[in-house]
Amino acid sequence: MKVLIGGGSGFIGQSLSKLLNSRGHKVTIVSRRPGKGRITWEDVSKIGLPPCDAAVNLAGENVLNPLKRWTEKFKQEVISSRIETTRTLTQAISKSPNPPQSWILVTGVGYYPPSQTHQYSEESPGGDADFLSRLVRDWEQVAELSPSNSKSSTQLVRVRSGVVLGRDGGALPSMLWPFRLCLGGPIGSGNQPFPWIHIEDLCRLLCQCIEQGGCSEAILNAVSPSSVKDTNSNFTQALSRALGRPAILPVPALAVKALFGEDRAPMLLEGQRVAPQRTLQSGFTFLYPDLNSALADLLR
Ligand code: NDP
Repeated sequence: MKVLIGGGSGFIGQSLSKLLNSRGHKVTIVSRRPGKGRITWEDVSKIGLPPCDAAVNLAGENVLNPLKRWTEKFKQEVISSRIETTRTLTQAISKSPNPPQSWILVTGVGYYPPSQTHQYSEESPGGDADFLSRLVRDWEQVAELSPSNSKSSTQLVRVRSGVVLGRDGGALPSMLWPFRLCLGGPIGSGNQPFPWIHIEDLCRLLCQCIEQGGCSEAILNAVSPSSVKDTNSNFTQALSRALGRPAILPVPALAVKALFGEDRAPMLLEGQRVAPQRTLQSGFTFLYPDLNSALADLLR
């Protein structure tokens, strides 16, 4: 199959491309920079969608980049890097004479309101709790194909991911050095839920949607089954055990607020208990259903 991946040069995109290539599929990346195996967003806007069986969007400025201050300019970049790239692909799919079978948008479980007690499934309402949930709501809305424009039965699947744990990017590598120096510890109270997924499971789930030409479900929560009960404290303890290092130095909430700003701090100090209900109903099986198996693999 031919697969087009917006933002495919990043952490998730590289793993997904590797998996798709190993299964005999041909990947083209949409990027801000031209290169081998790539087209640019301008190309898509001007020339239209290249022939493909599936389109995926993974583009987005890293929200939790600690080196970027939470200025209005950066906030707009976080928003537009998701909304405008998604809009470009949605419009190109709508106009394409041969649209793909599936259109897959990876967003986040930040759609659901933060809570230590509520448990969410794909059916739960959300999208209006804070900056991140409103961003996910708008981002997913832009991906909708208007029935009058869409000449085909292209299926939109919104994959709401938890924190993606992998060796080569995302949150985990930056957490390892403080733990290795015995400076690790929970963030804030540590009681906040910690929804997560192993990178390999996320890519296998996306691959399943691509190969099946969509999914019986329009929304999939991409979180490991056990993460519905995991907290930041559990994660800290599991990481500490796996590394054989103590984790006794909590990161104070005030420091998180000072470094990340009011809109971003809740992404670290609060969380959502999310179940992958429809993901499991779709027949997907997780290779890494709990933290111990995921960390044993990632820290090998
Ligand atoms: P990366 O930070 O690795 O970025 C993915 C790609 O987005 C980059 O390679 C880049 O492609 C493109 N990009 C970055 N900034 C901009 C910008 N300002 N404008 C346009 N394109 C930009 O992301 P991940 O692979 O970690 O995540 C992919 C998607 O999944 C993101 O939208 C993210 O929000 C979402 N997600 C990720 C989670 C995680 O834990 N990693 C958890 C939940 C959701 P290029 O330089 O080639 O243009």
